[in-house]
Amino acid sequence: MPELPEIETLCRQLQPIILNEKIHGFEVLDSRLGNIDTMVGRKITSVVRKGKSLEIELDKSDRLILHLRMTGRFQWQSSHQALPSHTRFIMAFTHGRILCIDPRRFATVNLRDNVCRNNSVIDPSQEYPVSELWKIAGVKRLPVKSFLIDQRFLAGIGNIYACEILYEASINPWRQTFSVSKQEWTRIATVTQDILHRAIACRGTSVSDWRDLFGNKGEYQNELKVYRREGYPCPRCHDAIHRMRLSGRGTYFCPSCQI
Ligand SMILES: [Zn+2]
Repeated sequence: MPELPEIETLCRQLQPIILNEKIHGFEVLDSRLGNIDTMVGRKITSVVRKGKSLEIELDKSDRLILHLRMTGRFQWQSSHQALPSHTRFIMAFTHGRILCIDPRRFATVNLRDNVCRNNSVIDPSQEYPVSELWKIAGVKRLPVKSFLIDQRFLAGIGNIYACEILYEASINPWRQTFSVSKQEWTRIATVTQDILHRAIACRGTSVSDWRDLFGNKGEYQNELKVYRREGYPCPRCHDAIHRMRLSGRGTYFCPSCQI
C-alpha cells in the first residue's frame, strides 16, 4: 500500500502539472466508485497530502479526496495512448490526463466541501512536539508498531516504514507503548523524519507495484535495512533479521539489537 512518501511523491509531481488548470473531463469507468458529482470546468487551486490521502482542492471550496488503498496508482498521459487495464477513472485536462489504475479496486474518490476538516492528527514528516505523542502513547497498552501505523495518531506510516523506523530507533516492535520513554519517543520521531524525507527523495519504495506518476519505480527499496530481509544479516550487529506476524502484518526486525 502506498504510504506517506509515495503519496507525497505523487503530490509533488502533480503540483506543477495540474495546479491552476481546469478539469476538462472526468470519466468513471468502474461503478464501484459510486456517483461523483461532475467537476468539469472547475479549477484546481491546490494539491496537498493528508496522511496517506491526496486532496485536490477545487474553486468554490470543494476538495476531491483520493485514497489509493492497496494497489491504486496514478499515471499521467500527456498524449492519448491506449488505456492500461484496470483503469478506474480518468481526469482530463487540455494538456493530458490522469488515470487511476487499480487492479484490486479498493481506491476511493470522494468530493467534499471544505467545512469539516480534521487537522488534529500528527504528520510524522513534520516537526511536532514529541511530548504530545508521548502523552497519547503513555496511556495505551498496545505494541509500539501498532501505534505507529494507527492513522488516528500519526497519519501516513504503514507497514514498510514502521519496520524501518523501529529498526533504526532500536525499539522492539512488540514493546508496549506505555513502556517507551520520552527519550525513546524523541529518537523514534527523529528517525521517522529522516526515513520519510529520504524515502520522499527516492520517490518511494517499489517492493511490489508502486510506480510514480510517470510510471517509474521508486528507489528506497535499495535502502531498506529490515523490510523483506528475513535471514539476511542485520547491518548493525550481523545477527539474522527475523520475520513474525504482528496484528496480521509481516513484521521484520532484529531480535538482538531491537529491545
Ligand atoms: Zn541487529
